[in-house]
Amino acid sequence: KSGFAAIVGRPNVGKSTLLNRVLGQKIAIMSDKAQTTRNKIHGIYTTDAEQVIFIDTPGIHKPKHKLGQMMTSLALATLNEVDLVLFLIDAEQGYGRGDQFIIDFLKKTDVPVFLIVNKIDKVHPDELLPLIDRYRQLYSFKEIIPISALQGQNVSTLMDQISHYL
Ligand code: GDP
Ligand code: MG
Repeated sequence: KSGFAAIVGRPNVGKSTLLNRVLGQKIAIMSDKAQTTRNKIHGIYTTDAEQVIFIDTPGIHKPKHKLGQMMTSLALATLNEVDLVLFLIDAEQGYGRGDQFIIDFLKKTDVPVFLIVNKIDKVHPDELLPLIDRYRQLYSFKEIIPISALQGQNVSTLMDQISHYL
């Protein structure tokens, strides 16, 4: 089995951290500053049974200028070519306007989308359910998976679920 998975989400939700954990290498640029990763960076996760080609997708945010518009249309083209989208959110930050933009964006494609609730190490478990309910009302996610990209909780579960969609 092999296929493409695109990672989307607001700046600083942990996209690069997740890629780095899964791939075990510093292939994605990590930064606290928004928009450090300007290019699609492909990292390939390979096991005996599967191969997942990850794409770090910048440019899914409200465009403020011409370059932003170009990146937004590039991002849409990218999403139409992948098997699966991983939409990362920050469990601590919760819902924000940036997420609504991404959700509206995802509605333009019919690719399956997972909601990945990241940074669960930073919140009390009781806070997770209301947060997940909120997002569930906005979009019909194929799977909803809480993880900590930094500490590794549930990342293997995520990889198992991904392989079902390749
Ligand atoms: P990106 O902009 O979405 O690529 O986000 P980054 O991967 O650069 O992460 C932004 C910040 O959040 C960094 O300081 C990371 O160390 C931190 N971070 C990422 N994932 C987690 C997590 O699961 N738990 C915690 N506590 N911090 C995280
Ligand atoms: Mg990044």
